[in-house]
Amino acid sequence: MQRRPGSRLLAVNVVVGALSGADPESLDFAMQLVAADSDWPGAKVHIRGEPLALQCRACGHAFETRKFELACPKCASLDVEVTGGRDLRLESLEVQEVDA
Ligand SMILES: [Zn+2]
Repeated sequence: MQRRPGSRLLAVNVVVGALSGADPESLDFAMQLVAADSDWPGAKVHIRGEPLALQCRACGHAFETRKFELACPKCASLDVEVTGGRDLRLESLEVQEVDA
């Protein structure tokens, strides 16, 4: 990432989906190491876990789970479709403008 004159990176906000394959704790540790050795040593890394989002194909009920309980809470069907929680994405950057 290129440093823009007159601005300072304060924080990086990352979303880690339950099915992303990334471990939030390991990612946090790695990103803190990267940030400490960069042009923005004071930058914080905020990691937000996103639950697994599912939709029941039998009754259409949409629901989320953090414990990988896959049965529909309304009709108990196991015929469910994954609709969210696969992503590992950079959600936003917090930047402070600094007078040169
Ligand atoms: Zn259902």
